[in-house]
Amino acid sequence: GKKEGRAATVAFESELMADERHKRFVERDLRAAILLNELELHYQPIFAVDGTTLISHEALVRWQHPVRGQVPPGDFIGIAEQSDLIDKLGDWVLRRACADLAALGTPHVGINVSVVQLRRGDFAERFADILLEAGISGSQIVIEITESLPLKSGTVELSNIEALRALGVRVAIDDFGSGFASLEYLRGFPFDIIKIDRSYVANLPDSLIDGLIVSSIAKIAQSLEVEVIAEGVETAEQLEFLRHAGVTALQGYLLARPEPLRSRFASAA
Ligand code: C2E
Ligand code: MG
Ligand code: MG
Ligand code: MG
Repeated sequence: GKKEGRAATVAFESELMADERHKRFVERDLRAAILLNELELHYQPIFAVDGTTLISHEALVRWQHPVRGQVPPGDFIGIAEQSDLIDKLGDWVLRRACADLAALGTPHVGINVSVVQLRRGDFAERFADILLEAGISGSQIVIEITESLPLKSGTVELSNIEALRALGVRVAIDDFGSGFASLEYLRGFPFDIIKIDRSYVANLPDSLIDGLIVSSIAKIAQSLEVEVIAEGVETAEQLEFLRHAGVTALQGYLLARPEPLRSRFASAA
């Protein structure tokens, strides 16, 4: 009755407050983390379909919190997106990746960019400045657009993308097939690479429908003459299926996990 309703409301409010407190705590600590260099990039290799030719790396941010330990990006990117923190974090990621590029040994590096960053009027300008400072050409960078909102034409997001492409930056649609990154995207959105979401890879080769979806995306990509990367490849059977389906590149734990740059040097020594 009424009492229960009130109790539920109170519980809901305190949950909201806990949420709000958590958010503020993450924001404060993340702001400090950027200044104190507690962030790090791990790099996951991307291979050609032969599964052995290394073609690129994806930069994935890691936060080593002094008390909470390693905080995964899924726990703080969303909060960073609610303030200017995402811009500071994004600039840091780009600077770091540019500085690491020579040591990575691949001609390109993939950087995740949130649509919130693309909404800032000065995004492409700051991006170009960072490249210039680092002596990196736009053609060495792929931005992976991680989708959480539909991207509309005639918007600042789109003009930023166009400005970056004019610098030679290539654009990947990340997690294609999930969320808003749907077929609608293929119309009117300027992109160079499709990354098939790992949820479509996970049940290969057993799932007939997932197999058909993956093969169809690969065919569309081929017709559009864009690259198609399969994410989350974990088994040899998946790799075999993907190779026959016509994807052009592979990424996943079967081939290599994300790792800090320094561990690469350590294992090479
Ligand atoms: P994403 O861009 O789709 O990155 C791929 C995610 O899948 C990474 O998780 C990676 O560690 C994981 N992964 C790779 N291979 C496999 C596999 O074979 N199996 C499984 N189960 N997972 C695999 P991670 O590092 O936790 O990153 C999660 C998401 O956080 C990323 O998804 C991306 O959307 C976001 N993110 C990471 N770094 C950044 C960044 O610097 N900026 C922004 N804006 N977002 C970032
Ligand atoms: Mg990505
Ligand atoms: Mg992805
Ligand atoms: Mg993702």
